[in-house]
Amino acid sequence: MTGEQLSARVIEAVRAAAAEPDAPQPLHEPVFEGREIAYLTECIETGWVSSVGKFVDRFEQELAAFTGTRRAVAVANGTVALHACLRLAGVEPGDEVLVPTLTFVGTVNPIAYAGAIPHFVDSEEATLGVDPDKLAAYLETTLAEDGPRNRNTGRRVRALVVMHTYGHPARLHELAEVCDRFGLVLIEDAAESLGSYYRGTHTGNTGRLAALSFNGNKTVTTGGGGAILTNDEALGALAKHLTTTAKQPHRWAFNHDMVGYNYRMPNINAALGCAQLEQLPGFLEAKRALAARYLETFREVPGARVFTEPPECRSNYWLNVLLLDPAHEARRDAVLEATNAAGVTTRPAWTLMHRLPMFASAPRMDLCTAEIIERRLINLPSGVGTARGRSRPTSSQGR
Ligand SMILES: *Cc1c(COP(=O)(O)O)cnc(C)c1O
Repeated sequence: MTGEQLSARVIEAVRAAAAEPDAPQPLHEPVFEGREIAYLTECIETGWVSSVGKFVDRFEQELAAFTGTRRAVAVANGTVALHACLRLAGVEPGDEVLVPTLTFVGTVNPIAYAGAIPHFVDSEEATLGVDPDKLAAYLETTLAEDGPRNRNTGRRVRALVVMHTYGHPARLHELAEVCDRFGLVLIEDAAESLGSYYRGTHTGNTGRLAALSFNGNKTVTTGGGGAILTNDEALGALAKHLTTTAKQPHRWAFNHDMVGYNYRMPNINAALGCAQLEQLPGFLEAKRALAARYLETFREVPGARVFTEPPECRSNYWLNVLLLDPAHEARRDAVLEATNAAGVTTRPAWTLMHRLPMFASAPRMDLCTAEIIERRLINLPSGVGTARGRSRPTSSQGR
């Protein structure tokens, strides 16, 4: 089969699964079919548009309730949520933080913001997340006996950040065991996994801290936004304090007891978020239905398979994943070219983090599985509009 033939089959399979086969199919697109305008109007009419307001409080409470975490703190975006998580986990300048190379740059940049050094680890094909077995074997030989210190660099290794790739949960119990065994703090980058569950528990509950994102391309959006999740009440209170300029409560005085951040989410963004959360169950249902249809329509496409949720997991199918067989990986770019030219938006995996110039000299383990996945992976159109059709015309860019 040529690249051209494979591309034609991919386009056909996407269109067959889409609710409106002949429409352009963006990778993802925000859907505003609830009370967004009513809530935004309320913000403007009452003057509560900025850094405090009832929608911020309500959004935080509803996020905690939905995810089953004790505390959710709304912030400006997912990247700063992760920066705050690292600071709250005790990551200090000069520390190393273990992190997958197969991730979006937003997982790794905050490690640099904290003055720490990313230490790249490999992923596994079964979950697309960090491989706990390979990691444990690696740490066995890489960490010094006297606490979590890298034998080769002498630096303290403080934390492991895992990411639930395209919404598929990593093997959290095994990863938490590795962290316990080696004295590391587990942090979850759950930016892509709102609505994804590992053994019945929402992602973001296993790590000491977790980050969510509500960027325009995520499952629900606040325009831009993020949140910190934790089950530790004291850490939750500190997360709020740290991200709201560390101001001590007082009726008029401005006293700050640490170098805090102005990372808070404005009330207008939270208003959008409250309206979006009301629609989340419907979004998740639509996205799972689309994933099920892809499984059917790609069954007959030779040389490629659709990735399905790992065992004991319920995934949100944020972005559907097509994995080319090794024999077809040389055709990936032809498929990307042809699908995008036909209005079926597809994307390759992110360039692996250890290949980016700013992280090229960072320490790493063998990364062969991430390399294999990266060469074979194509993201398919996955928006709610593709799943159930559009009541209004949408831009093909989805942002
Ligand atoms: C979206 C995303 C982020 C960052 O979120 P922003 O809100 O865009 O800052 C971080 N990590 C991953 C894996 C993401 O997909």
